[in-house]
Amino acid sequence: MSRSICTKASTTWLLALLFVGAFAAASTSPRLHAQAPAQSSSQSFDIVPVAPGVYAAIGKNGVFGNGAFIVGPDDVIVVDTQYRPSWARDLITEIRKVTDKPVRYVINTHWHGDHTNGNMAYAAAFGPDISFVAQINTREDMIARGVPQLETLRTKTVPDSIATLEKQLIDGKDAKGVALTGATRQQMQTQLAAQRVQLAELMVTTVTPSTLTYDTSMVIHQGDREIHLLHWGNAHTRGDTVVYLPKERVVITGDLLTNGIPNVRSGYPVEWIATLDAIDKLSWDNAIPGHGNVQQGKAQLESLIAYFKDAVAAVKDCVAKGMTLELAEKSIDLSKDKSAFPNFDTGGNTSMIERTWTEITGGAMQ
Ligand SMILES: [Zn+2]
Repeated sequence: MSRSICTKASTTWLLALLFVGAFAAASTSPRLHAQAPAQSSSQSFDIVPVAPGVYAAIGKNGVFGNGAFIVGPDDVIVVDTQYRPSWARDLITEIRKVTDKPVRYVINTHWHGDHTNGNMAYAAAFGPDISFVAQINTREDMIARGVPQLETLRTKTVPDSIATLEKQLIDGKDAKGVALTGATRQQMQTQLAAQRVQLAELMVTTVTPSTLTYDTSMVIHQGDREIHLLHWGNAHTRGDTVVYLPKERVVITGDLLTNGIPNVRSGYPVEWIATLDAIDKLSWDNAIPGHGNVQQGKAQLESLIAYFKDAVAAVKDCVAKGMTLELAEKSIDLSKDKSAFPNFDTGGNTSMIERTWTEITGGAMQ
């Protein structure tokens, strides 16, 4: 088994965690807002029923990462568990408002901490009868990459960020040396308080790896409901699972599909297209994405497929012409795809071009 230990955490992903507010704001895009009936709200999640017994938990107020839960005749199946275990506990409270049946399976769509850190909350609440299910590569990456990444977050990334904010507040100047206004000072103090809370929770967070794995597909039979777990190869990570409920016409995609250009930093954009095409071929009405609101119909997915194909074709063309990455970034214009993605200009498109370049030119795909 080949395994690469990644001790260098993905900068973009970590920065995203430090500035979750920006992502929360992006997720409110009215264009994608689900018109679901009977939606209920808690402080951490909007609980959106998408089919009988099937609920999306859409993170809000800075809660980084969606989830879903599926209520059967005897038990509950949860998909993804958020970045902070306290958010997972909030979702358990929401599940308890719907049913008192136990959670028997937790499915992790991929290894990233904002989809797996909350596993420990389910283990604590439901004991040894619960199974944590994932594609086999995800289990390996939770251990080989998730554990060191969590360590980096709590020993370096978040403490460094706290120290920087504290120094800037003492000095009265921001990173560019500009004097703080009352408003920016207040903003930084809010950010500092949030990061201190985050650090305290990271100190008691542990990775809870999968206990049940599969290779390319498996089906969980929950009463007469079929829950298909599907893996089509490298995409957002090398171990993504799409959860597909054929009778209910629902897909739960993890970060293969989000409300913007998904984070591609541990992804494989060229290969990712095959997985997106495979999701497009399934019969469904509602997609629960990894971040952002429930997507009704395939419009956003098909915009993403078109964008991926455009980006890959453009990068291949630049590579064929012998350009440098710097020149390619200046010459590639994908602005016709821009309107579908709130994060196009805030790093989404640049990350996509750079990662695609790495994949096409055979660079290190950490
Ligand atoms: Zn992810």
